[in-house]
Amino acid sequence: MTRIASHRGGTLEFGDSTWAGFAATAAMAVEEVEFDLHPTADGRIIVHHDATLDRTTDTAGIIADMTAEEVRRAIVDHSGEGFRHPLFLEELCDIFQGSTVAFRCEIKPGHDGRLYQGFVPKAVAALEAADRLSTTTFSSFLLDTLKDLSAATDRPSLWLVAPAVLKLVGAAGVMDLARLRGIPEIGVHIDTADRTLQAMAEEAGLAFGCWAAHTRPQIGKALDLGVKVFTTDRPTLALDIRNARNDSDTTRR
Ligand code: FE
Repeated sequence: MTRIASHRGGTLEFGDSTWAGFAATAAMAVEEVEFDLHPTADGRIIVHHDATLDRTTDTAGIIADMTAEEVRRAIVDHSGEGFRHPLFLEELCDIFQGSTVAFRCEIKPGHDGRLYQGFVPKAVAALEAADRLSTTTFSSFLLDTLKDLSAATDRPSLWLVAPAVLKLVGAAGVMDLARLRGIPEIGVHIDTADRTLQAMAEEAGLAFGCWAAHTRPQIGKALDLGVKVFTTDRPTLALDIRNARNDSDTTRR
């Protein structure tokens, strides 16, 4: 069965990386919750997509240059329920205590596009301390981050292949790179996914998934392809579509 990952806690349904979105996701029949991490200047770990607070909160600033206290004064901008400050990683782990939803943890670069020095082992240790590491898969667009991850943990990582990378490096080059680097899985934007690419990944021994399947046609495409997993900003819609398909399969049998 194709796995569904609630992207940033279901951005289009609950806001971007909001408390309400993660709490809703924890109670859903999805398999994974996707989220992104950034360090604060004083060594805490914040669950937030952007490296800055500017786009999604009532505050401006670079998370890595701020103290945790400063970051926590921000309110995540979401017009629905659940106006709350950005979460600490420990709080995300608390929300998912007792939930069967697995973690899909993306390690982002800083606002300047550079890796946070020494951040990967800290994130791994924090997940371990919360007893969450054993159900975490990591992801990154950056090959150097994937290298840091494989040095820090035995947990699986997947390479998020940006459309521009796929275009410039080419599908064969992407497969070669993944194989050379010992990366077991790739994820591509749903709009760049097709049967040929999927077959190439499988031939290279790579698991194949998609990201950013937010619309009904995109979700349908991911399910038609039967990819391993896809991320979506609309986890409720994705579940409805998958359930409806499973029901009609059962009826046909
Ligand atoms: Fe992400």
